[in-house]
This record gives sequence, C-alpha cells and structure tokens, in this order.
Amino acid sequence: MKILVVEDDLSLAGQIMTAVEQAGWVAESALDGLEAVYQVTEQSFDAVILDLGLPRLDGLSVLRAMRDQGIHLPVIILSARDTLHDRIEGLNAGADDYLCKPFQMAELIARLRAQIRRGSGQTSPVITIGELALDTCTSAVYWQGQPLKLTALELKILSYMMHNSGRIISRSELIEHIYRQDFDRDSNTIEVFIRRIRQKVGHNMIETVRGLGYKLVQPA
Ligand code: CA
Repeated sequence: MKILVVEDDLSLAGQIMTAVEQAGWVAESALDGLEAVYQVTEQSFDAVILDLGLPRLDGLSVLRAMRDQGIHLPVIILSARDTLHDRIEGLNAGADDYLCKPFQMAELIARLRAQIRRGSGQTSPVITIGELALDTCTSAVYWQGQPLKLTALELKILSYMMHNSGRIISRSELIEHIYRQDFDRDSNTIEVFIRRIRQKVGHNMIETVRGLGYKLVQPA
C-alpha cells in the first residue's frame, strides 16, 4: 500500500511518513498543492493524507482537481481549520474523512486502515481468503489458523494482493505499491518474492496469469 502525504510542515510530514512506514506501508511526500496534483496523476496510491493550508495550491483545490480527473482514491483531510463549516466543505469537496490538528498519530493510522479497506471493498478488519487471513489492524497474517512469518516485503506484497484478491495484478502494479518511486526497482525480484510466499501459503493461492501477472484466489 502506498500513501501520499501532502503536508508543507516538514517536521509533521516526517512524523506522518515514519508512522505510515511503521504501519507497513510506503510513504511518498508532496510539500505543496501542485506537487500533490502531479504526484496523484503520475503514480498509483492507495490513499492520500491531505493538509488544507498548502503553498501554490490549497488542499481543497487539490482535492477538487483529483475528483475532477476521476481519481477516486480515499482522501483524509488533516487540518487546523476545525470549524463545522470547514469540515462540511472538505467532505463536500470529496474527502472521505477529516481529522483536526492536533491529532494522535495512532488515530490517523487507524483511520487510514479503515479507508484503505473501504477503498478495496473490504468491510471487516480481518480479510479472509480461504485459509489465509490478514488482520489489518496488526498486519498479522495467519495461514490455517497459525501466525505466518513474513519478511517486510513479503507482507507488503501479500497484503496488497489480499486487499485486491480475485483480480489480476501485474508485476509493475505490485512494484508501484510496494516500493518508493526513487527506489531502484527490478521487476524480476517480484517473481522471487511470489515464489517465497507460495512456499509459505500453498501454491494454489496465487495463480500466475501468463503475460499479465498474478491473481490471489480462493482455492476451490
Ligand atoms: Ca499547512
């Protein structure tokens, strides 16, 4: 899962990015509104954390620009403007949630989890596919009821696939959602990770769709 953090306060942006990475996701940052609009059109994200008071283009305009372009990513507004009018305006502009500053990092992360789940059509905090289960609150994965040991990257891949089960995911899509943009990415490594995950969860959970990618399926 990749999260765009749009915040011009460098220290707060850094704290949010650290919390996002600790939650097992990848964080990219945009320090002003125009950069944010550019990033959401150039890269694939799973959610956006959006400050309202931003240089070059304010947060509400960023949000409207995104929605006008048909980008339906979950967006959580973070703002010191906490009047009822501000909240209503933010939600009307297409935000999915609104958190007032100052806020607790744990609450932001919990709300992000809920938005990411909803964004992928999941309602329960535990995603279950066959004998595989992901507790999205703790990032623990269970296979046949037993906790599964996964490396950080294996977890990122499996979590993304579980949030998007039943559809074909290309290697480049996986790469976009598990690595930062500036990371030196090698699509061949995805095959290696998929092989390792298959060794842990049984080979028939992940189908290879030749030439297209992989699909996490509920075995018959
Ligand atoms: Ca600001």
